[in-house]
Amino acid sequence: MSVDAFVGLGSNLEDPTAQLARAISELAALPDTEFVAQSPFYASRPVGPQDQPDFVNGAAWLRTRLAPEALLDQLQAIEQAHGRQRLRHWGPRTLDLDLLLYGRERIDSDRLTVPHPELANRDFVLQPLLDLAPELTLPDGRALAALRANCPDNRLRLLPPLPQTPGTSG
Ligand code: ATP
Ligand code: CA
Ligand code: CA
Repeated sequence: MSVDAFVGLGSNLEDPTAQLARAISELAALPDTEFVAQSPFYASRPVGPQDQPDFVNGAAWLRTRLAPEALLDQLQAIEQAHGRQRLRHWGPRTLDLDLLLYGRERIDSDRLTVPHPELANRDFVLQPLLDLAPELTLPDGRALAALRANCPDNRLRLLPPLPQTPGTSG
């Protein structure tokens, strides 16, 4: 059985747009997983410490047979491959991959809280999700569009689309 999962991507170090583009191809190559779509990328002001560069954010829509914690393992392996170092909470990073939604499931384990607990407060998460799926709702029934209308402003700026690799579309 496959589940629709949404992953949030963020970076503010070492060419963030390139970090995200590479992460998208790595997500597309995950085992037992189909890649459905990627959102446009946005620049945003950081949450937490302000003495760090702006972020680039986006979201990916996957259809996966991986269990939630197995998917998290894969996401963390990709972060590691991008040289992710955990220095300070909400500090700068080469790549952050968050499991935002996993079907309609609610998960609360040591390693995983799904839906992602900050999702409703972050325009840089909600906007790319809405670009992918305008009708998306949380497991509790709340519409993402309504959350987006009421969340704090991190001064999102839509970035120009990346050049397409020849032979691909969309
Ligand atoms: P935030 O969660 O507020 O976006 P962050 O992304 O900076 O903060 P990290 O340092 O990347 O936080 O992750 C800390 C831990 O969060 C991870 O080790 C992971 O086990 C846990 N975690 C809990 N829920 C999730 C989730 N939905 N997606 C990714 N990691 C999660
Ligand atoms: Ca995060
Ligand atoms: Ca994270």
